[in-house]
Amino acid sequence: MKKIKCDVLVIGGGPAGGVSAVTAKTNYPNKEILVVREFEIQLVPCAIPYIFGETLGCSEKDVASCGMASDMGISTLIGEVEDIDTKEKLAYMKDCQISFDKLIFATGSEPFVHSSLQHSLELDGVFTVPKNKTLIDKLKDYSDSKENIVVVGSGFIGIEIAVEFATKNKNVTVIGGSKHILKNAFDSDIGLQAEELMLKYGVKYIGDDRVVEIIDQNNDNIVNAVKLKSGNIIDADVVILATGYKPNTSLAQKAGIALAHYRGIWVDEYMRTQNHDIFAVGDCSARRDFITKESSKVMLASTSSAEGRVAGSSLYGIKYLKGFSGTIAIFSTMIGKRAFSSAGLTQEQAQKANIDVVVGYFQGLNRHPATIPNAQKQLVKLVVMRHGGQIIGGQVVGGEETGEMINLIGLIIESHFDVYRVMSMQIATQPMLTSAPTSYPLIMASVMAIDKIEKPQ
Ligand SMILES: Cc1cc2nc3c(=O)[nH]c(=O)nc-3n(C[C@H](O)[C@H](O)[C@H](O)COP(=O)(O)OP(=O)(O)OC[C@H]3O[C@@H](n4cnc5c(N)ncnc54)[C@H](O)[C@@H]3O)c2cc1C
Repeated sequence: MKKIKCDVLVIGGGPAGGVSAVTAKTNYPNKEILVVREFEIQLVPCAIPYIFGETLGCSEKDVASCGMASDMGISTLIGEVEDIDTKEKLAYMKDCQISFDKLIFATGSEPFVHSSLQHSLELDGVFTVPKNKTLIDKLKDYSDSKENIVVVGSGFIGIEIAVEFATKNKNVTVIGGSKHILKNAFDSDIGLQAEELMLKYGVKYIGDDRVVEIIDQNNDNIVNAVKLKSGNIIDADVVILATGYKPNTSLAQKAGIALAHYRGIWVDEYMRTQNHDIFAVGDCSARRDFITKESSKVMLASTSSAEGRVAGSSLYGIKYLKGFSGTIAIFSTMIGKRAFSSAGLTQEQAQKANIDVVVGYFQGLNRHPATIPNAQKQLVKLVVMRHGGQIIGGQVVGGEETGEMINLIGLIIESHFDVYRVMSMQIATQPMLTSAPTSYPLIMASVMAIDKIEKPQ
């Protein structure tokens, strides 16, 4: 058996593993960093939906670059880590033993399918959306010649895939299991706007129903339809189960690493497991919500990268005070040319968590004056604590600038800023680039929230 020695072993080459390795090398340049990942070609997971339609059109255009890591002197091995001896600090692959000083689990997540639908994965035409090029190519090749596409799940991955298939004039139906799409990230009023836009792109939505059976009418092992709880039958040549992801933690569990809620690896704020030489980052780690501190199922590449930065700089002692204090579930999606972004809690989630909130809501334009070519509506909704005025959630709908606008709101939430501070913040405005200084939607939404806080109930 081949023997390899390194200082820091990173298992996984997704966003969390990649960022951990680069951060570790930047902070500890004399350490030998080794990344082991299963596949030679790693897809950029966030752009997988765009493989199926006109935007990218093939997986070859969605390959992650690993150039930076090799330029920095980070080594890579392709293969699977099958076993770990945490006491001896040894990891085992098929024909190789790796000794390490520090270990980072970045083994990610895999598609979750409800047990009642598991068996249907054996049918031709039924797919999940894994982050694996070979399997994504299989889905793409199979669906290219098919007409009726049913997407199960109305989270952002299901919706992005559905809209992409619609760009190829397929008959696409999303079965959501919730009244409106994107319900985990947006309040119903904004989810409805996204849904109406999706319908305009030709995607059908069945909200108040769910799939109870996937049907192979001819007994030929090929899917034909799905049956809904209501008894309705929807024709399907392809069924895509976009029903969530679960932490990939079987290796960690086998190695005796403690797991927490939803089977994620238990970590502290510095992404350390209970053994401080072993870290876990990304989708395989157990997460908490930034505001409520409740267990969270949110899985995002951006959060995974942030965790990688924390772990990579904390390997040999706490270097920077900033720990990771929970996910703010910050993300953006696009339906056609309209962007929908969200961070923190929605109004509905805050109320469910028994937090007394007011909402600041303002719709303006993303350019000024309105006659500037391509000016679009920009809507900002802020969820604000009635006592104290801290902003704990934000939703933005607008043009491309929305992606960065939500990042600003994310920093506001993470920094515990309140609406009084945002109301008087200094901003740069320019007709071709931004809203007007007099009616900047983020500031105006704060002003609206202050008005509600100060009005007697
Ligand atoms: C279709 C889709 C669209 C998405 N869009 C967005 C988006 O727009 N924005 C966003 O923020 N997030 C998005 N996400 C979520 C995001 O992709 C994940 O949160 C992110 O990939 C998690 O990163 P990770 O590094 O923790 O895990 P993963 O990306 O799952 O990577 C895990 C890595 O570990 C490797 N591995 C696992 N076990 C072993 C082993 N035993 N030995 C060796 N290697 C192993 C895998 O091969 C892989 O390289 C999307 C996800 C999907 C599927």
